[in-house]
Amino acid sequence: MAQLSDFDYGVIRLLREAGVLENEDVREIVMSNGVITIRCPDCDQKDDAERHDAAIAHANGGLNRAHPLYHHGGAAVASHDDILYPGRNIAGYLLLQIAEAEGIKNIHTIVAEVHAPCGKGADAGLTVVHLIAMMMQGKPDIKAVDPTNIVICRVHVDYGELRDSETQRRTYFISLGVWLTFWRDHGRELWGHLFEVDPHPEGRQPTGALTEDLEPARESSIPGNQERPAC
Ligand SMILES: [Zn+2]
Repeated sequence: MAQLSDFDYGVIRLLREAGVLENEDVREIVMSNGVITIRCPDCDQKDDAERHDAAIAHANGGLNRAHPLYHHGGAAVASHDDILYPGRNIAGYLLLQIAEAEGIKNIHTIVAEVHAPCGKGADAGLTVVHLIAMMMQGKPDIKAVDPTNIVICRVHVDYGELRDSETQRRTYFISLGVWLTFWRDHGRELWGHLFEVDPHPEGRQPTGALTEDLEPARESSIPGNQERPAC
């Protein structure tokens, strides 16, 4: 089984300390009719991730009705840069699958997740920074399938047996608005050199010209969802 790299461990610790990777308040998650889950099918990790789905359903009184859309790389395949499967339009295929799942199963909550360590990501030479950035790049497209849907982004981490700062496996919530602000203020300087194209949607604009509240404006149109952190 793959081990979390020192680099990815450092990234996750930094994102935790910066408040970018948050503990999830499961009571705030609306999944009364189930949840469409986009994640990597990693056989060593999915049981833990699915236990998390079930725990949330139990905690908030919803149905434990997860509808999995699993792809190697998880929600990173939502990136329209098509890095994991060049030329295959996996992002378009994923969006079609989401629309079908919503229509067939009447589920309007979507969890988009990447994880570390991820074998597919490692094979493609990607770090957890890339996987998070790719998921966040694709998040607005997932939301656009049906803007009334709730889309929650998460990062699942297996710290392995040698890491002592957390329990072995954890699932964190990540907000798109918080991520973009972090990237503008810190992430680009720290990790921008890892990217050929800046992953921020306004990354070609001069620093400081980025929109602060891009995502809250988008999310505020969801009836009854104004109090939930933007994702
Ligand atoms: Zn994986």
